[in-house]
Amino acid sequence: MTEKPILVTGGAGFIGSNFVLDWIGQEGSSVVNLDKLTYAGNVGNLARLKNDPRHKFIKGDIGDRALVRELLNRHRPRAVVNFAAESHVDRSIHGPEDFIQTNVDGTFHLLQESRAYWEKLAGNEKTVFRFLHISTDEVYGSLGPDDAPFTESSPYAPNSPYSASKAASDHLVRAFHHTYGLPTLTSNCSNNYGPYQFPEKLIPMVIMNALNRKALPVYGDGLNVRDWLYVEDHCEALRMVLAKGKPGEVYNIGGRNERKNIDVVRAICSLLDEMHPASSMGNYASLITFIKDRPGHDRRYAIDARKIERELGWKPSESFETGIRKTVQWYLDNMNWVENVASGEYQKWLDINYTSR
Ligand code: NAD
Repeated sequence: MTEKPILVTGGAGFIGSNFVLDWIGQEGSSVVNLDKLTYAGNVGNLARLKNDPRHKFIKGDIGDRALVRELLNRHRPRAVVNFAAESHVDRSIHGPEDFIQTNVDGTFHLLQESRAYWEKLAGNEKTVFRFLHISTDEVYGSLGPDDAPFTESSPYAPNSPYSASKAASDHLVRAFHHTYGLPTLTSNCSNNYGPYQFPEKLIPMVIMNALNRKALPVYGDGLNVRDWLYVEDHCEALRMVLAKGKPGEVYNIGGRNERKNIDVVRAICSLLDEMHPASSMGNYASLITFIKDRPGHDRRYAIDARKIERELGWKPSESFETGIRKTVQWYLDNMNWVENVASGEYQKWLDINYTSR
């Protein structure tokens, strides 16, 4: 018997598209991919699957109840994996509405339809069904330099409209498990990096700007700390959560790679000096420019991933040094992809929001 498909939302975005490629490669079963194709969605990420019958792409909104219902009833997935979100903190500061619309309302509608679908299932189909919600460590707020990393029981303290909207969605997922018994799983991960990341985020933006000999903007003093997770390690963790996670549980996923932002930018510059030397123009690090800090900028995030390591046997394979080398190499090898996604709209956004001080 062929394995039932999974319904992935936001599968044309950065992590979602990596997950779809990884899932079809590793599991071999099919994916129904529902994505609204906002500025962050790019079907070009899935070009490899163009003629693969295991991938079915549908352009649409997770908040479109009739569409979600129709997809669930037609494809009868064994899981819903929800990546769809507005995901960029800076954009949430300038325009929080879309974040509430998709991350809160959209997740709520997806939960309602998933619940209605799951309640009508019977026997094994009902037992195996899972709703996996992908969330962020930012829901836990900010850590001081000596604080212990976030665990699954750290209190929620979101500080940006983005993290507040993700926190709200996490609470809805939790409530749908406790109230209705929907077999949910929630994962809260740290900053991802790797292939196909839209160049508004720190790592691809620094690579692109450096290659274009533009300023490399670093917020404030550059000492904010993030815990970096290579996206393929994250995809593997999510497969394990789906396969072995316990309904109603939360799993923190992190790379054990805490780095100051300025050190991340310097690491990229020295890799580019080695892999793509800029000859007469001097080292890339000379382009680093400190800019006015982001309002409410969280100082430090760090994930304690011991629960998923202990209970599901997952461990990240990439150190930051190996992951960032692969990432820089991917961007150097895929400049066409970068040029395609770096549209006029993106350039306008960068010019308005990352002016030097
Ligand atoms: P992304 O912005 O690259 O992709 C989001 C995708 O969702 C896009 O393809 C977009 O078109 C789609 N989308 C947006 N609104 C939609 C809607 N209403 N209906 C259907 N599709 C919609 O985001 P990402 O970096 O891939 O993040 C994926 C998930 O992981 C998000 O939920 C995010 O909160 C979470 N997360 C990301 C990171 C990270 O470092 N990137 C870290 C922690 C958690």
